[in-house]
Amino acid sequence: MTEVDLKFKILRVNLRRHGLNIAEDVFKRHHHTTKPKDEICVFCNSITAITKEHVLPKWILENNLQETMTSSVNKQMITYNKALVPACSECNNSILAFIEKYIIKVIQYMDALDNCSNEDACNIIRWLEIIDYKLQVLDCRRKYIKYGNSEYDRDWGRFSVSMMRHFLSMSPWRAYDWLRSSQRRIIVKEKIKGVNSLIILKPRIPHFYFFTQPNEYIYLSFPMCKIAVFYFFKRRYEYYEDAAAEALDIIKKVAESG
Ligand SMILES: [Zn+2]
Repeated sequence: MTEVDLKFKILRVNLRRHGLNIAEDVFKRHHHTTKPKDEICVFCNSITAITKEHVLPKWILENNLQETMTSSVNKQMITYNKALVPACSECNNSILAFIEKYIIKVIQYMDALDNCSNEDACNIIRWLEIIDYKLQVLDCRRKYIKYGNSEYDRDWGRFSVSMMRHFLSMSPWRAYDWLRSSQRRIIVKEKIKGVNSLIILKPRIPHFYFFTQPNEYIYLSFPMCKIAVFYFFKRRYEYYEDAAAEALDIIKKVAESG
């Protein structure tokens, strides 16, 4: 087992063991009437050495840390610099940081060789699933701000209420189901069936761009190379071309609405 396989495995094992607890905590924390408990790591349930993990890693954001981006799907403004979720220092600095370094290499190989092995594609999928999970954790935490009634860490409390607009139209339990779904995807080791749902694009100019529909798809382009990825979290395709055509449709609509 390679080092990166091992890191993904630790994440799977921890979420299999603690996912339910974590999801309930993330979800219920924001509906409490008493003082909230200590923050827990949303990857392993630990309460030791809790740090703030960026939903999107800093290396993707580059100079865009302070920038406010609009999510194409729900039209909500997000300041990426403040998009943080709690993770213990082991998960943040040892596991997720390692995976990110690995992903940077994969993306740079892809750019140079114009190719990507199935193994690398599976690891990109695993990484994108982690981002989707973090986004959903963040969305659940923003709900708290909406009902805001406690002296929470100031950094968490700065998100605008409007960021939650997307979730206000649905029942809270649906958001919980989504959170659990995103955990369940991470827990599943095998990703080969999703490889056709991962579309690799080659933008003409390297730049950072991001949009997502939680639980459905994600688009990310990278500032350091001419690579962009689009991934359908749930939809599966017999042919890559069909997935690519659908992804391009979505990208075009987002570009037009933006
Ligand atoms: Zn942890």
